[in-house]
Amino acid sequence: MTLRIAAPSGGGVDMDTRLDGPLGKRAAEALAARLDLHTVGDLLRHYPRRYVDRGKLSDISGLEIGEHVTVVAKVEKATLRDMRSRRGKLLNVVIRDDKGGRLSCTFFNGYKVSHVLTPGVRALFSGKVGVFQSQLQLTHPEFEPLEEGEDVRPFVSVYPAVDKLNSWDIARCVRQVLDQLDDPTDPLPEDIRRREKLPELGRALRRIHLPETEADHHAARARLVWDEALGVQLALALRRRHATERPGTASPPRAGGLLDAFDARLPFALTDGQRAVGTEIAADLARETPMNRLVQGDVGAGKTVVALRAMLQVVDSGRQAAMLAPTEVLAAQHARSLRSLLGPLGRAGELDGAEEATRITLLTGSLGTAARRQAMLDVQSGAAGIVVGTHALIQDKVGFADLGLVVVDEQHRFGVEQRDALRGRGERTPHMLVMTATPIPRTVAMTVYGDLEVSALTELPRGRSPISTTVVPAGEKPAWLERVWQRIREEVADGHQVYVVCPRVGGDPAKADDGDLFEGELVDLDDPDPDVGGGAGSDDGARRPPLAVLEVAPKLAEGPLAGLRLGILHGKLPADEKDATMRAFEAGEIDVLVATTVIEVGVDVPNSTGMVILDADRFGLSQLHQLRGRVGRGEAPGVCLLVTDVPAGTTARERLDAIASTTDGFELARLDLELRREGDVLGAVQSGKRSTLKLLSLLRHETVIEKARVYATDIVDHDPDLAGHPGLRTLARQVVGDEEQAEFLSKV
Ligand code: ADP
Ligand code: MG
Repeated sequence: MTLRIAAPSGGGVDMDTRLDGPLGKRAAEALAARLDLHTVGDLLRHYPRRYVDRGKLSDISGLEIGEHVTVVAKVEKATLRDMRSRRGKLLNVVIRDDKGGRLSCTFFNGYKVSHVLTPGVRALFSGKVGVFQSQLQLTHPEFEPLEEGEDVRPFVSVYPAVDKLNSWDIARCVRQVLDQLDDPTDPLPEDIRRREKLPELGRALRRIHLPETEADHHAARARLVWDEALGVQLALALRRRHATERPGTASPPRAGGLLDAFDARLPFALTDGQRAVGTEIAADLARETPMNRLVQGDVGAGKTVVALRAMLQVVDSGRQAAMLAPTEVLAAQHARSLRSLLGPLGRAGELDGAEEATRITLLTGSLGTAARRQAMLDVQSGAAGIVVGTHALIQDKVGFADLGLVVVDEQHRFGVEQRDALRGRGERTPHMLVMTATPIPRTVAMTVYGDLEVSALTELPRGRSPISTTVVPAGEKPAWLERVWQRIREEVADGHQVYVVCPRVGGDPAKADDGDLFEGELVDLDDPDPDVGGGAGSDDGARRPPLAVLEVAPKLAEGPLAGLRLGILHGKLPADEKDATMRAFEAGEIDVLVATTVIEVGVDVPNSTGMVILDADRFGLSQLHQLRGRVGRGEAPGVCLLVTDVPAGTTARERLDAIASTTDGFELARLDLELRREGDVLGAVQSGKRSTLKLLSLLRHETVIEKARVYATDIVDHDPDLAGHPGLRTLARQVVGDEEQAEFLSKV
């Protein structure tokens, strides 16, 4: 049953050597088939999952019932017999340690194990001490046979094992490879290694597999984490550089232009943050190097104004700006809010248009033929200064007269490559401004978005009121739900308005799921966030379908909210009906708006103070935060009630508790990161490639990531294609890999 490994061939092995060299064909085939490991480098980067510390071994004579123990002992006797009530064999093994203590171990899959645990074999056994027929024993312990003379090693490395390939087989392969390995050339420049006090690569690889002390494997790990962090940062620095290789267009501010006119008629003062970020952007736009900037700002931080001011600067220099949204509905909302912010300044050619006005053109797939033709014409002729649409807009190669700036909203819905595609393939690269309301923890900003410069709007405009958020466990405390509706009535009695949000539209029970096209789309687009849409429901197929607007609204109207003026809003309504409902709600003619996530973006009714989110667990963390941002926009404090029937103690409930515990988007983003698999986040950097980031953690390695970013930026500034740093080139390649996916690296 043990893996057959060929005799050592004696040296001359490096990281690129195929495994059949040092290990023979059998072992190499097994490693390739089961773990996808092909080269010495692959195997040596298959790190131990944990170590068993020999110093913490127990003596058999001192064991106590219920203890988890690890002992080293020799098999004295092994007896295989049929099981009484089941098929299969039971193996009983009596083991004896150096001090003479004896213990019996029982294995249920005895036949398989009997080939390994034959009398005379020394092994490590670990498990929980139990009693059988008044004797201590280990039932089905984990075990690991030890080689002759192996006891000298203080730690046993435990590898992530797979079917038919045991941890100890992997360990034997690793040892044999390490015996023959010529120390690899260290990719890390010596000055960095010294400054950061990191061991050399060869030493780190040996120590992570065969540590002598605890400090050994810590140091080894630290070094290997560095390689990953630096690889990521180099890849991103190269990507940033590549993005700015084609020249952009300089659009310096123009005095007395549209931007000045807009600032003059702005009904509020810009926040300090808006002003500071605005200055950064203005300077970027004035340069010929294409801007590549991410503006992150919590819901309501006022990003639209920032983006609009950037667009106006570009329009002032005679160029066009495009604003892209992930869905048609969002694009239409953007166009509306830009038009209302600009007023007469956005109505060129109309009766009440200002003299210096520009035109805002909405370009979406659902335009009628004539409207679409007119819109295209405006875009091509340059009559449209600002073009708003879905990203299909650029990808369909709409011919802009002179595109100077692309603004992308809701960044978290775009992948890294899509971002590249949005810039188009023209001779000149437009400036790029990415906006996201999803707060991004620093480490994520430095990795997933590491190809962008980051600006943050941390303060909210004045006049915002606090929102208190409460989780309502309707499953455990049904009485609380009654209290929810009572609370809503109180808000309305005070003259305020309220939203009730449901995850689904409903209406056609037979087609409950594919009926919710619009909402479904929004939810899917959030997919990088694995929580969205599925929530707690995804691991339980038997759960009832999510609550639906069309089913909830009539129940509320007849029951707990009888007598209040209810309205309904969802994506399937015809556009004019949606508009009418929205206008009625804005005018205060509706008390309670029962809606889907259509209200997530852009809805701004300061008199609304309450929000009830039903089946809150079905939404993603960032989506809930966005939704909640719809209340507390006026003077009265807001209240947000998250109703759920998922039980306490589940991840889904933890997410809701997280939302309730803070309104600080950045804090929330950190919690979100803790609650979801980091691999999914880091995976976005690697775009489809098999992950080579094995040790790097966005939560634990913030300092390393930060330092690596500084080094990487500096290195790429001085050596743009890493010609003088072949080792670093390898590190970057290890992260990004496939040349066709990372065109910028293929030049390297
Ligand atoms: P978001 O960052 O979520 O996109 P918006 O740009 O939609 O935020 O701004 C939210 C609201 O705040 C809008 O009604 C906008 O007009 C208003 N607003 C933006 N900046 C300020 C400011 N400096 N002072 C007051 N209100 C502002
Ligand atoms: Mg916005």
